[in-house]
Amino acid sequence: MPDRILSAISQQTIDHRGPDFAKVGLRALDGLKSIFKTQEHVFIYPASGTGAWEAALVNTLSPGDRVLMFETGHFATLWKKLAEKLGLWAEFIEGDWRGGADPDQIEAYLTEDKAHEIKAVCVVHNETSTGSVSPIAAVRQAIDNANHPALFMVDTISGLASLDYQHDEWGVDVTVSGSQKGLMLPPGLSFNAASAKAMAANKSAKLQRSYWDWAEMVGPNKTGYFPYTPGTNLLYGLNEAIDMLHEEGLENVFSRHARHGSAARAAVRHWGLEVLCFAQGQESGVLTAVRLPEGHSADAFRASTLEHYDISLGNGLSKVADKVFRIGHLGDFNDLMLVGTLAGVEMGLKKANVPHAEGGVQAAMRLLA
Ligand code: PLP
Repeated sequence: MPDRILSAISQQTIDHRGPDFAKVGLRALDGLKSIFKTQEHVFIYPASGTGAWEAALVNTLSPGDRVLMFETGHFATLWKKLAEKLGLWAEFIEGDWRGGADPDQIEAYLTEDKAHEIKAVCVVHNETSTGSVSPIAAVRQAIDNANHPALFMVDTISGLASLDYQHDEWGVDVTVSGSQKGLMLPPGLSFNAASAKAMAANKSAKLQRSYWDWAEMVGPNKTGYFPYTPGTNLLYGLNEAIDMLHEEGLENVFSRHARHGSAARAAVRHWGLEVLCFAQGQESGVLTAVRLPEGHSADAFRASTLEHYDISLGNGLSKVADKVFRIGHLGDFNDLMLVGTLAGVEMGLKKANVPHAEGGVQAAMRLLA
């Protein structure tokens, strides 16, 4: 986390019902709109991303509603399980965890649903378990092509403020995000951006909700307040993060991530290892998941790099557990941090006797230079 954000968070906690708080709250609620690229309401919860997942569903749907989801990876699978626990009838279009959601399959599925029983389509934008990005604008187009009225919900917990994201332009009804990724904050805040259509659905949605209810938030939010205790210090950090993102320029932030993604992949390919994301053009600028050759444990490799080089690589989750490791290159990250990270991986590969061609770091450096 940038020092600027850490020092913003360390300011004194003020009375969240007092007059000074309104400025903090309004700045955060308003500033977030510029990051989600929306004119609509953005709700802020003192919760991790899972809370905002739940909030998106309980605010707009009713028990037994059919929900179409796409199996991009571990996080799409968790969102589906959560939907099932809430009493929704969640259906998966199965995926191989090597790319983003396929708009054609979504269009075909929705076209079959002549009675319009499917009430929502839910897609993960940046699948953090695989490093694949779903084409959100194309999924919107697919829903429109099928002439289907389902709500469109997108999880951009790890995409927002790292990859281009346009809530309004892409016709998303509910966007879900969190503080601990591109916003460079600690965990603890999460968000729902809601379209007018989603706000209307909220009025008739029958799933039980109390803590997550948008209707309770709207009134106090108008003057910069919240119905219950907000994460005051995280909001200080959020306001600082929004300023930092605009000082750099969102487009520059996105191209920095894209560049780091390309450089990381150049290193991986030079090593002779495989990038988990197989779908060309859908590789993430947020992280790169790397497959280890058969017979090599990714977890043993990660443990060895942590021990020898003090570098913490992401683990493979559920279906790809022990098969992949993940290199994170999101948030407050620069060229030298990436080169250092890749050097740690390359030295780690050697130490753990994983077959590879030396020189991946140089391949990344050539691209960065
Ligand atoms: N969705 C995605 C894409 C994620 O990356 C994560 C967490 O990493 C989640 C959902 C769950 O969020 P949290 O762990 O903050 O509850």
